[in-house]
Parts: sequence; C-alpha cells; structure tokens
Amino acid sequence: MKRLLPILLATCAPLFAVERPNILLIFTDDHCEQALSAYDPSRITTPNMDRIANGGMRFNRAYVTNSICGPSRAVILTGKYSHLNGFVRNGNTFNGEQQTFPKLLQKAGYSTAMLGKWHLGSTPTGFDHYEVLLGQGPYYNPPMKFRQEDGTPATRKHTGYTTDIIIDLTLEWLKEKRDKDKPFMLMTQHKAPHRNWQPGPKYLNWLDDKTIPEPATMWDDYEGRTSAAREQSMTIRKHLNTNDLKLNQPRGLNPEQTAKWNAAYAAKNAAFEKAKPTMSEKEIIKWKYQRYVKDYLRCVKSVDDGIGEILDYLDESGLAKNTIVIYSSDQGWYLGEHGWFDKRWMYEESLKTPLLVRWPGVTKPGSVNNDIVSNLDYAETFLAAAGVTVPGDMQGRSLVPVLKGETPKDWRKVFYYHYYEFPGAHSVARHYGVTNGEHKLINFYQKEEEWELFDLKKDPNELKSVYGDSSYADIQASMKRELERLRKELKVPAVDPTRPPRPRKQNNNNKNKKPKEKKAS
Ligand code: CA
Repeated sequence: MKRLLPILLATCAPLFAVERPNILLIFTDDHCEQALSAYDPSRITTPNMDRIANGGMRFNRAYVTNSICGPSRAVILTGKYSHLNGFVRNGNTFNGEQQTFPKLLQKAGYSTAMLGKWHLGSTPTGFDHYEVLLGQGPYYNPPMKFRQEDGTPATRKHTGYTTDIIIDLTLEWLKEKRDKDKPFMLMTQHKAPHRNWQPGPKYLNWLDDKTIPEPATMWDDYEGRTSAAREQSMTIRKHLNTNDLKLNQPRGLNPEQTAKWNAAYAAKNAAFEKAKPTMSEKEIIKWKYQRYVKDYLRCVKSVDDGIGEILDYLDESGLAKNTIVIYSSDQGWYLGEHGWFDKRWMYEESLKTPLLVRWPGVTKPGSVNNDIVSNLDYAETFLAAAGVTVPGDMQGRSLVPVLKGETPKDWRKVFYYHYYEFPGAHSVARHYGVTNGEHKLINFYQKEEEWELFDLKKDPNELKSVYGDSSYADIQASMKRELERLRKELKVPAVDPTRPPRPRKQNNNNKNKKPKEKKAS
C-alpha cells in the first residue's frame, strides 16, 4: 500500500511501517484569541474551534514573525523569515519556485490541496489541486481560480457566502477529489474575519440584543510609548469608514442577499442616524465599537459552524483518528485594545495568533502549552509529522516533541519579530524587536531610532515603556544582546534593504498641517 511508508528511525532502529498522518490546516485571516472561546469566552462561544482545543493542545504563546497577512502565509509555507522568503509586505509576489512544505509533502507522496484564501499574488505551487480567491476576495459570490485537470488555471464564479463556499469545497475535496491511496495535506483558508467583516445571511441579526464588553485599554491615550503608537491610523474613533460600519450596503450581493442584508441593517442604521445628532463623541465611538466587533464576531461564528461540519465528517468517515487538525490564523488582531482595529504591531494582541492542534494518540487532549512557538515552526512540524526530513535552511523547529508533551530543553526562550510595511496602510512604523515572554524590546526605526521596553509581568497591556529607566538597565542591556544575537543567527540584513530612503529635511511651512481624514460616519 502506498500509504504505508517505511520510516528509518535513528541509526540502529529497525525498519517498520507507520501509517503517515493526514494533515488538515484550517486557517483564518485576522482571527484573534479574544474571539475564540478556548482562549477567551467573554465575547463569543466557538464550540467547534474548542473541540480542537479540547481534543488536543492549546498554545498560549504562538507568535508570528511579521504580523501581516501575506508575509505570515509566506513564512508558513517556507519556514523562513520574511527577509529570506522574499515576501516582506502585502503587495509583494510570492516566489513559488522556492522550497515550500507543500512541495516537499507532495514529493513525499502526499495528496495536497489549497482551498480558499491564498493572497500571495502568484499561482499556488506544490498542490495537486487548488481553488483560491482572487487577491483578498469578497465575502459574497466570489470568483475563484482553480487548477484544471491539465494543470492550467481557470476561473469560475460561485454564488453564496464565501466562508460556506470554502467549507463546501473542503468537504468536496475530502470526499471525492483527493487521491485516497495517499495521505493528505489540506490547507483550508478563510477570508473571514478580515476587514470589512460582512456577516453571512445566518448571522446578520445575531448579537443584536447583546452588548460586547470593551477591552481595558479601549481608551488608551498612547502616553508612555514612542511616537509610533500615536501616529498610526487604525483607531475605532477615526479610521473605520462607512463600509466598515455597514452604513453603506455592500456591493456584489444578489437581490436575495441584498433583501436579507437590508432587512437586518436598514432599521439599525436608521436608529443610529436618528440618535446621532444628540450623541456625544464618546457615545459614537462606543456605537462604532459595538457595530465593528459584532460584525467581526458574526464572521467568526460562520467559520466555527463550518469547522463543525469538517470535524463531523472526519469523525463519520473514520479519518479523524489519523488526521492532525490544526487551527490557526495569519496573525492576531485588535478588538478595540488600545482603541484599535487591525494588526501589524509587535504588541501582544497582534504578535500572538491562535494555535490549536489535535493529534489523536499523540497529543494529550485538553493540554495547554506556554512555550514560545511560532508560525515559523509550522512547515517543520508538518514535515516531521509526515516523516520527511526537515531541510537545514528552514529557520523554525518541529513542534512534534512539544505536541507529545516533551518540549526539548534547548527550546527557544527568545523570539525575534520584524515588521516592514511602511509607508503603508494604517501607518505603523517599521520595527523589529525581541521578547522572552517576560520582557519585550522594540526598535521603531522608521524615523530616528525609537526604543520601547516593556515589563510584561507588571504591565501586560504594554502601556508604559521602561526603556531608559535605570532600574531596568541590566534587562535592557541583556535584551539588546539577545536582539543582536538573533539578528545575526537569523541572517537579518544589518540595514533594511526594503526601506525607501528617508525624506530630506527641508523647511516646510505646512509641516503642521494634517492631511484631511476620510470621514468615517
Ligand atoms: Ca491577516
């Protein structure tokens, strides 16, 4: 049988046959731990994501190397940091010629597929089958590019809610399209809950009668940090537009979808417009927060339902017992923390991403892990789980021993982060830094260098940088040493080669004049 692969274990171990596990990566875009009840049940219940956690391991410190969509995906495929895989910011095109874990698994005899959001510009490589959204893709009625029998790409348009369509494609591939003589590796990747958070028909009115709690840092004034935290453009106060807030009807819906949409939003919007003249600025921000966060949670809810369908099918078909199910997202997200939406920062909410892994017979159900793991480790993990040698130029490390509850003694204690997308959406300055989970050192190097140091135990919300505080001198010095060590070890160029030259200093009489803000509502 092709499924049975003799794996040579260590030098003197005897040859024996092991059934290689299937690998199912269920992946979302911009889903944070604050909206996943296995991590935080205060806003939403996600019973199906929780099934994965309860049946396996929940990681509390899964950090991303570069908290932005495309780059995170490129890191996962290659097991390499952005500066080595070449995809440093959204808008880059992924070089599909390079080594990726799907290619290696395909070569090792896995049936491989990629369904849903790809978002890397180039055509997917390393997959027997793919059907992907074009770029970001819409929430409704998406055109999708797929691999035809002869290997060439074609496009077809679907009707329906994108989350449901990706689930249907997933079930169809599992049931009918995969090569059943081989183990499989399937990446099923959602657009949801990416901006602008359009709920599916089933959940348009869900949570209408609820008030979602505001996070502790919702009204942050950005004192105590560098200019970077103040000069972004991702506040709920000013930067959500009328499409984000559903004050406009979305485009691309068919008449039936439009009717359902309007039945849900028209009355809510009319009530807001009527009340608005008498509302204070703070009341309007609070309203925006509720509108924004509820739509985000509604999108998550549809994903959770879909995961339930997939898990049920794995159970019914008997596949569950030999399938590793991984749930993760490309990065974390701000659900109002620091007054923000979006991601990008090395601060905790966007540095972390959810990671749940269920591996029957290997990972103890209901286990919780606090080691520093990363999206950099996924490729290595999938290869190791499949018995494929992990290439030496990958920069992460297989989580297989961690999943067995046997974290190696020399597991990483410090983690390097690097964000590049400036100038760019939401104006977050370029920065890099290190964290060991107790302290975090960040260098914003967009203008002149600005440093921040956080004591995460005393200040878990990262409100007051202690950089330059003499009582932290030793910690600051040791974190700087760690930063230099890791930059060298990870082959980070001394100067960011992707940074545009700094503008020349000039006398500008208009320098205090702010660009006009797009009105949000
Ligand atoms: Ca994302």
